[in-house]
Amino acid sequence: MKLVLATKNSGKVVEFRRLLEELGATNLEVVGLDAFPEIGDIEETGTTFEENSLLKARTISNLTGLPALADDSGICVDALGGAPGLYSARYSGQGDAANNAKLLHALKDVSDADRTAYFICVAAFVRPDGFEHIEEGRFHGKIAHQVVGSGGFGYDPLFVPDGLNCTSAELSAAEKDAISHRGKAMRAIAPYIIG
Ligand code: IMP
Repeated sequence: MKLVLATKNSGKVVEFRRLLEELGATNLEVVGLDAFPEIGDIEETGTTFEENSLLKARTISNLTGLPALADDSGICVDALGGAPGLYSARYSGQGDAANNAKLLHALKDVSDADRTAYFICVAAFVRPDGFEHIEEGRFHGKIAHQVVGSGGFGYDPLFVPDGLNCTSAELSAAEKDAISHRGKAMRAIAPYIIG
């Protein structure tokens, strides 16, 4: 079976492929949107993570005639009323380093106890026969006072997972998969993909 991942991010494709293989999807040919250059960007017009991931999976399944898996993710900071949330990737408009600087600035007067946050990932699987399934994973922790670590991406250098004394940018890929929002969502949705 062929599965299309509704992303052009090659890092995400590698991560999804690794997770699905670990979960037993050995006879699955996993391809990213790079294999379909004729498909342009899909506008994320939804107002929730669920809407956006379903929108992406439905669009790609329709356009390719193949089963599609999409995810939508972000970080929600309690002291900011859940921001940047849905807008995590576009928070500063200037990429990961500027996003982290903006988040640190927004929390400059917030004490340790109130720096709680969570990553969320909503994964959506859509088949051409109309079957649809959604799963969500969350990853709880706190926002640090400075960036630490060089692994991962996005807000990882600022995120201290509950129970750990390091940021998620200091974890190996396997260590992060085991506890992350994306790992949890993928482990939950994999049985519906593999069948
Ligand atoms: P999207 O899911 O591609 O729309 O991107 C969501 C954004 O949330 C990313 O660009 C990151 O800024 C942030 N994000 C989502 N998951 C993670 C993660 O595992 N680590 C760090 N940042 C993340």
